[in-house]
Amino acid sequence: MENSIINYMEKYDYENLFVCQHKETGLKAFIAIHDTTLGPAVGGCRMWPYKTEKEAIEDALRLARGMTYKYAAAGVNLGGGKTVIIGDPNKDKTEELFRTLGRFINRLNGNYYTGLDAGTVMQDMEYIHLETEYVVTIPAYLGGAGPISPYTAWSTILGMKASLLELTGNNSLKGKTVAVQGVGDVGYYVVSYLVEEGAAEITITDIDETKIKNVVNDYGSKAAIKITEPDNIYDTPCDIFSPCALGAIINQETVQRLNCKIVAGSANNQLGEEKDGDRLKEKGILYAPDFIVNAGGTIYDTDRIIYGEHNHDRAKKNVDAVYDKACQVFRVSRRDGIPTYKAAEMLAQQRIESYKNIKIL
Ligand code: NAD
Repeated sequence: MENSIINYMEKYDYENLFVCQHKETGLKAFIAIHDTTLGPAVGGCRMWPYKTEKEAIEDALRLARGMTYKYAAAGVNLGGGKTVIIGDPNKDKTEELFRTLGRFINRLNGNYYTGLDAGTVMQDMEYIHLETEYVVTIPAYLGGAGPISPYTAWSTILGMKASLLELTGNNSLKGKTVAVQGVGDVGYYVVSYLVEEGAAEITITDIDETKIKNVVNDYGSKAAIKITEPDNIYDTPCDIFSPCALGAIINQETVQRLNCKIVAGSANNQLGEEKDGDRLKEKGILYAPDFIVNAGGTIYDTDRIIYGEHNHDRAKKNVDAVYDKACQVFRVSRRDGIPTYKAAEMLAQQRIESYKNIKIL
């Protein structure tokens, strides 16, 4: 981001950036709203010990724009927003801090809904919910969708199946080999679905031994689970590489090392830079764009905002639509000879533009 926030916001057509401070509770937060053409902005609340305010603002703005594309591409009538709190999630959390944030969000009158993100947990959302209804990722007993990671994992699996269909004409995961980077909340369920779908071999890695143990204890006797060191995952020969840990793990160095036909995972912002999407295409690896295939959790979570109350069957049906969406992205990519990440962005932009036209009419 250049030095001028306004110039940056003009360049990407942002609507608002709110600064929230409250000395008594130590709250220092930014709420970015990118685009509300399709509906109210939605995006999680990230808590991170940002070193500078600039770094925090940049993150809020970048992530809010990502949410606009995620909903638009998924065909969900919501806009993109994000909250970032400057603070250490292990030390600085209090009920008062989140309730204060809830009051700020309430003042936005439903123009923005927050939810879970890195550094926050469902309990934090419950505190926010004490002050405002404009929050998702809350438990079912409060009218929310409950845990959403299984739905993120399921849409990731659908992304894998759509990729297989595109490459082989058959969407079955039976007999396939998959390497999963990170077996936390989402990765654990990705493995469980892969086992159900009959994958031949699942190689897993994680920096946290307990996460590996959980998977091995639960699925080690049901499928061929192999464990590898975190850095070796890129070199693992497999049909599908599934990044379910960190962002920016696809870069000039790792693309050279990848030994797979498909990349389909839940991690946000997998491409270090856009060029890495071109690099994958040049190497003949099909990339299922992250914001298409990891949308399942938020599609499930936001059902309540769109329809007034959460309905499992309807929300699940909308999660299942990720499969057709991924197929559409691949068709457009093939038709126009463009990388899949560009095709996905194009579809998202087209939806926003067409909706603007409908409103004018
Ligand atoms: P998580 O923190 O529960 O799991 C991530 C796992 O990755 C952890 O077990 C962690 O130890 C491991 N890890 C970290 N660095 C690693 C490394 N270098 N090598 C191997 N493993 C490493 O998070 P999550 O909720 O499972 O989310 C995973 C990814 O999916 C994140 O990028 C997240 O932003 C994205 N995502 C999650 C959801 C959701 O519903 N939870 C929705 C959309 C996107």
